[in-house]
Amino acid sequence: MDGTVVRVTLSLIAPGILFLFGIAFLAAWLIERKRDYLLFLAAACAAFTLGAVSQILWIPADAGLNAMVSGVLYTGAVLMAAEGILARAGRHFGGWPAAGVLLAVTGLLWWFFYVDRNVLVRVYVQNFGYGLVLLVTALRLTALARGRLVDRLLFWILLVFAVHFFPRTVLTLGLSAPLGAKAFADSVFWQTLQLSLALFGVGLALTLLAAAAIDVIDDMRRERDVDPLTGVLNRRGFEDRVAVHFARRDGPASLLLCDLDRFKAINDTLGHAAGDAVLKQVGRLLQGAARREDVIGRLGGEEFAVFLPGTSLAEAYECAERLRTAIARHPVVLPQGSRGVTASFGVAEAEAGEPWPSLCGRTDLRLYESKRAGRNRTTASAAPDPAFPNATARSATEIRG
Ligand code: GH3
Ligand code: MG
Ligand code: MG
Repeated sequence: MDGTVVRVTLSLIAPGILFLFGIAFLAAWLIERKRDYLLFLAAACAAFTLGAVSQILWIPADAGLNAMVSGVLYTGAVLMAAEGILARAGRHFGGWPAAGVLLAVTGLLWWFFYVDRNVLVRVYVQNFGYGLVLLVTALRLTALARGRLVDRLLFWILLVFAVHFFPRTVLTLGLSAPLGAKAFADSVFWQTLQLSLALFGVGLALTLLAAAAIDVIDDMRRERDVDPLTGVLNRRGFEDRVAVHFARRDGPASLLLCDLDRFKAINDTLGHAAGDAVLKQVGRLLQGAARREDVIGRLGGEEFAVFLPGTSLAEAYECAERLRTAIARHPVVLPQGSRGVTASFGVAEAEAGEPWPSLCGRTDLRLYESKRAGRNRTTASAAPDPAFPNATARSATEIRG
């Protein structure tokens, strides 16, 4: 086979792979249409592939037109990749800044082809321009550097990719560009560019696909573990999180159970929607008062639980009282007018070696005592004897007053 054919075929491998990634992003978007960023990434891959094919296969054959077409496609690819990566994190490159970059790059390419023909400047404009766009994108995503493994990987690949445009261009091109298409295609600059685009492009696309898959799994987990009405954990999510803390605990840990008082009457007199509004407000109050390490759950109906790691009984009692007064002091604003709500609390501290069901049982009993004693109060467990004689597996819902 002729050397040129081999070289052209080899240089089409990277765009070919990115084209396949484009199809993968498109397929992912068709399954998860709410994730618009996947569409931007698919479009970026497609634009890059078209740009590369146009440049490598000389379509269109006119040199000026070719430089313009491939330049616009590459610039579009970089801008859409930037928008896609930012949109995944809930940020945006923005339509106007993108239009500005596209116009500036295209304008400069046009000028330095048709007015003041200078291939060196054109190469610098494109490489430094793309480096800058990606650098701005990476610097707006520094929060990813403290995130999950896939986010950290994404941030660092993007940053190195962005920065590499500058030294690579200077080191492989310097101040003179190879003259003629053949010399350009054989130059160290061109070969290094192809290699770096293949490596970084594939690395970035792979990481973004993995990130998209992890995003979907995270969402599914959230749907499984979070109560959609109040935004706190549901029973399953609560028990899963607590199991981790509980097994590893050293030092005190306390449990707080909270059951709204006469909640059924709110539903019966004001309607289910009013009851839901009350539950939402209580969820918000609990979340607002919690520390980072506290675990908050809605165990069912109008019963909430807060697990407090590193917290003694006295501190947990204080916490429960703070929450109880906060609930009592914040009437829920409803279309029918505002309505006062109260809640009863039970609190217990885990004994050394005590199993989780035993702690739940003891806390339930304290909650039951609060209900029996007239509601809108907190009862804390007195230290139980080592055999946990009060421990029962009864749940608070079973012991409604
Ligand atoms: P007590 O003071 O003894 O706790 O009385 P209560 O009325 O609060 O307790 P009860 O267990 O009799 O009633 C709980 C009610 O909670 C009954 C049920 O219809 C209602 N409920 C459970 N889940 C939801 C929900 O998601 N939304 C609304 N609006 N109501 C709910
Ligand atoms: Mg109740
Ligand atoms: Mg109840």
